[in-house]
Order: sequence, then structure tokens, then C-alpha cells
Amino acid sequence: MIKKYYLLSPGPTPVPADVLSAAAEPIIHHRTSEFSEIFMEVTEGLKYVFSTKQDVFVLTASGTGAMETAVISTLCAGDKVITINGGKFGERWGQICQAYGVEVKEIILEWGEPYSKEQLVDELKANPDVKAVFAALSETSSGTVYDIQGYGEVLAQSEAILVVDGISGLGATPCPMDEWKVDVLVAGSQKSFMIPPGLAYISFSPKAWDFVEKSTLPKYYFNAKKYKKSLGKQTTPYTPAVSLIIQQKKALELIKSLGLEKLFEHHRILGDATRAAVKAIGLELLSKSPGNILTAVKVPAGIDGLKLVKTMQGKYMAYIAGGQDPYKGKMFRIAHLGYMGGFDIIIALSALEMTLSELGYEFEGGSSLKAAEDILKENWE
Ligand SMILES: *Cc1c(COP(=O)(O)O)cnc(C)c1O
Repeated sequence: MIKKYYLLSPGPTPVPADVLSAAAEPIIHHRTSEFSEIFMEVTEGLKYVFSTKQDVFVLTASGTGAMETAVISTLCAGDKVITINGGKFGERWGQICQAYGVEVKEIILEWGEPYSKEQLVDELKANPDVKAVFAALSETSSGTVYDIQGYGEVLAQSEAILVVDGISGLGATPCPMDEWKVDVLVAGSQKSFMIPPGLAYISFSPKAWDFVEKSTLPKYYFNAKKYKKSLGKQTTPYTPAVSLIIQQKKALELIKSLGLEKLFEHHRILGDATRAAVKAIGLELLSKSPGNILTAVKVPAGIDGLKLVKTMQGKYMAYIAGGQDPYKGKMFRIAHLGYMGGFDIIIALSALEMTLSELGYEFEGGSSLKAAEDILKENWE
């Protein structure tokens, strides 16, 4: 049989054909008006997705580069911060801060547990000297979304800033930066932005920019001030990934033509369908607050989770993601993020059913597909 490759992971995500071919356009020089025109169109499009009036800076890096930029552009050595660690990426905020000598009060959550704004209020009372709170919109390791709007309300009443990792969530689930009072928001190109890996995006509120002016942590490439100065000249401080920016222009045209509300609704439908499908075959979600970006599913008792992922990827070439760290072999993750359609989750579910039956799990064959189809059918337009 022809083995076809199905990318069903929460990053990188599939790229539309016309966006792929845009990368084949000749390289243009980046210190030209021709490039600046494309670049400014991209930054305007990014402002739309961020829902902000502030500048959005484009970094040539993966998403983690923007996370590092957020830390080193706003803080000083010895500053104290709170990080909300509900999984791999919340943990990463703490690791970056510690690497630069920032004192971290880490809130360690069970993977999939929500964290309320009331809990944050109490934590801030106990630690009145913190300069910033670091959170994730969508914790990709557990498929959980957090109450960023609530945290924004809390931090707007304090001197501290709210720094949010929107790398998998932004563009797929609501997080209007200005309205929700997010002070620093970061994103990555290979998740909901429908282009390959390699670009990262970051924006600062006026409150956060005051921190940038005072920040003393060491920095060179990821210095937000340099990006601001260059943006004033309609360019980047260092050679940008020209082809990726051309691709982002193309993908933003699609994103804008659909509109954010439609995109959120699209992700909600795929999320609903996937959740209903896995429940229909007796599987459980890992998260108590599941997002519409991906669905993290517990491996049922008696089934080898590593073998499950290996079979789906190796035999069926359905590239879902496995579990990380404590959940390695204990969960798997089906993404419904970015340029994925209704039939992409059907492929994932079909490969899942074929794999589960091969591994000896008992369920009614086809029932996950039926559950997903019912929701897709109802919502298809
Ligand atoms: C993918 C992801 C990252 C890491 O991004 P890289 O592009 O791999 O550096 C960080 N946070 C979240 C929530 C992610 O989903």
C-alpha cells in the first residue's frame, strides 16, 4: 500500500499548498522597500491575530526564542517571579528564568488541573514582591487551557506583569491581548499560524515596555529594544527568514479571510468532535479543562501506550503525539490545530481504532468515528 504521511501533531502542523509553494519564490533582499512592504503587511496581520494595537516583533527562532526574549527583555537579575507550571511548557518558563538568575516561585500543578484567578490572588498576597507572573494559554503537554482573562484582571490591579505563552493557543482559542490585559504575549509560526517552524512572535503592553526600559538581564540577539527600533524602519535588526515571512503573508491572508471568530469556532467543532469520539470508545481525557487545540487522552489500562504511538506513527503514518515526561506511555495527543479539517481527525480516529483493536483493547468498532461524524455533520457548512 502507498504509505501516506499524516501530520496530526500539535506542532509542526500542516501547511496549505499555496503557502508551501510561496517558499519557492526567489529570495529578495531584506534591505529593500519590496521586502519592507511584505514585512509590514505581516506585522499588521500579526497584530490582528494578537488583537493588539501594540507592535508585534518577528524573531527568527522557534517559539522558545520568544519565551527567552520575554524573560530577558523585561527582568533584572534577582527579580522574583511566579511561574504556573502545569506541564512541560509552564516548566520551561521557570527554567529560562533560572538560567538568567531570576528567583522563581514555581506553582506546580498536576498535569490537566486548572488554576483559578482566586488561587493567583492568594499566591500574590503571599508573594507581594513578584515582578511578573508567567503562564501558558494552552499547555500543549496536557491539552489544558488556563484562565488568562482572569489572570489579566488580577495583574491589572498590581504592579506585576502577566507574561503568556500563546505558542499553541493563539489563533486557535481566544486570547485578545489588549482586552484581556496580557502584558507580554508570545507565539510561534508552526502551530496555528499555518507555516513551517522558524519564526516566533512577541508583543509588549505599555506597562511591560516600562519593564523593558529598566531591564538589566544580559541580552544581544533577543533584545526587544533593537526589534522596536528596526520596526520603526520597517525591518528587522538582523537578516530575517525572508521565505518564512513571505509564507506568513500568504497564510495570514487565509487567516484574515476566515476571521478569528470563525477560526475559534472551527477549532471548537474539531475539539468537540474529538472529545466525543474518544469518550465513545471508553477513553478518558487527561485534562479537567481541555482546550480546542489538541486532545490529550489517557492510555487505557492494560494497553502499552508506547506501542500505541509507535504503531500509529510507524505503521499507519498517523503522526499524533505521545505523552511527555511523567506521562510517557500513559497518554497520547491528537491535535486539531491550524490548517486541519474535519477529515483530519477522522483519519486520526480511524488509525486509533485500528491500533487499539490490534493491541487488544475492547470497544465497539467504528463508534468513535460515528460520534465525531455526528458532530462534524451538524456543524459542517
Ligand atoms: C510548541 C510549544 C512551545 C515550544 O516552541 P518551540 O517552537 O518548540 O520552541 C512552547 N510552548 C508551547 C505551549 C508550545 O506548544
